[in-house]
Amino acid sequence: MSDSRLAGRGLLAADPAHDFDAAPPRISFEFFPPKTPEMEERLWEVVKRVEPLAPRFVSVTYGAGGSTRERTHHTVRRIRQETPLEPAAHLTCVAATRAEIDAVAAAYWDAGIRHIVALRGDPPGGMSSGERYAPHPGGYAFAADLVAGLKRVADFEISVAAYPETHPEAASRQHDLDNLKQKLDAGANRAITQFFFDVDLFLRFRDRAAAAGVGVPIVPGILPVTNFAQLRRMATTCGASIPAWMAAHFDGLDDDPDTRRLVATSLAAEQCRRLQANGCNEFHFYTLNRADLIVAICHLLGVRAPRAAAA
Ligand SMILES: Cc1cc2nc3c(=O)[nH]c(=O)nc-3n(C[C@H](O)[C@H](O)[C@H](O)COP(=O)(O)OP(=O)(O)OC[C@H]3O[C@@H](n4cnc5c(N)ncnc54)[C@H](O)[C@@H]3O)c2cc1C
Repeated sequence: MSDSRLAGRGLLAADPAHDFDAAPPRISFEFFPPKTPEMEERLWEVVKRVEPLAPRFVSVTYGAGGSTRERTHHTVRRIRQETPLEPAAHLTCVAATRAEIDAVAAAYWDAGIRHIVALRGDPPGGMSSGERYAPHPGGYAFAADLVAGLKRVADFEISVAAYPETHPEAASRQHDLDNLKQKLDAGANRAITQFFFDVDLFLRFRDRAAAAGVGVPIVPGILPVTNFAQLRRMATTCGASIPAWMAAHFDGLDDDPDTRRLVATSLAAEQCRRLQANGCNEFHFYTLNRADLIVAICHLLGVRAPRAAAA
């Protein structure tokens, strides 16, 4: 099959020789805070399973409207105290005054948390509720303001969000890029992207960002897709497109979760390989608190736990 036909199906592979020569990429993982003791136990198994892959950091999300505040704090602290992993706490501007957010940040610093993923956040009901975001009176209005505020609290390492397909509420693509630049100028160290599937789209975004003076790494956010129906709903609210070839790959698998998982692993690994072939050497994985796909994808990329020394 020709390269152009493969590319049209999202399958144009990197040079196979490159796969073996390339250094393993740097990786980070994102978890969400568990709701129940059973979910916490399961998350803990996931954390232990991915720990030997030595991620650069692992981040814990903050529910829409700050709804998971306590659970996020608990999870982040537990990772700090009980593992060698570097935890990063997501923090949003929603439903809190500046003083409250500053106090949360100071408590994180005191607990040894040095990395914050600083976000504006979505309204309490989430983007799908149709509710519009409104800054809290006395709060940080946008992520750039939050980054500046956090830097006043302590010298945190800060990651921010970037949108290869433009944030859905942005006045324009250029405005969104200017906003990214502002977040970085305010002190953020890296940008992590919203999930995307079209590698060319990311590469064009990266070029535009570089032309706009963005000099820090833009880390692709990788979402292995196991539930295609759910993805359609999520993608609509966060403005991510789903290429036609992806729908074709999942066609007919609605009642076949095992095959969906194998397809998801293969597609995500292929996406990473194409990105690697284009100079990306760092990925942030949206784990959805599951380890098996992530471990398999990392394995395919050459990210592996050190082998135990032979007795
Ligand atoms: C890697 C990643 C992790 C995430 N984690 C979480 C999480 O844990 N919890 C959660 O609730 N959400 C999370 N989100 C979702 C995020 O909160 C939403 O996408 C939110 O709608 C925007 O957040 P932001 O930090 O990008 O906002 P901002 O960078 O503040 O931008 C938001 C919008 O406002 C516009 N804008 C910025 N400044 C101005 C201004 N001064 N005037 C007018 N418009 C402006 C921007 O162009 C953009 O359209 C995450 C997203 C990503 C990509």
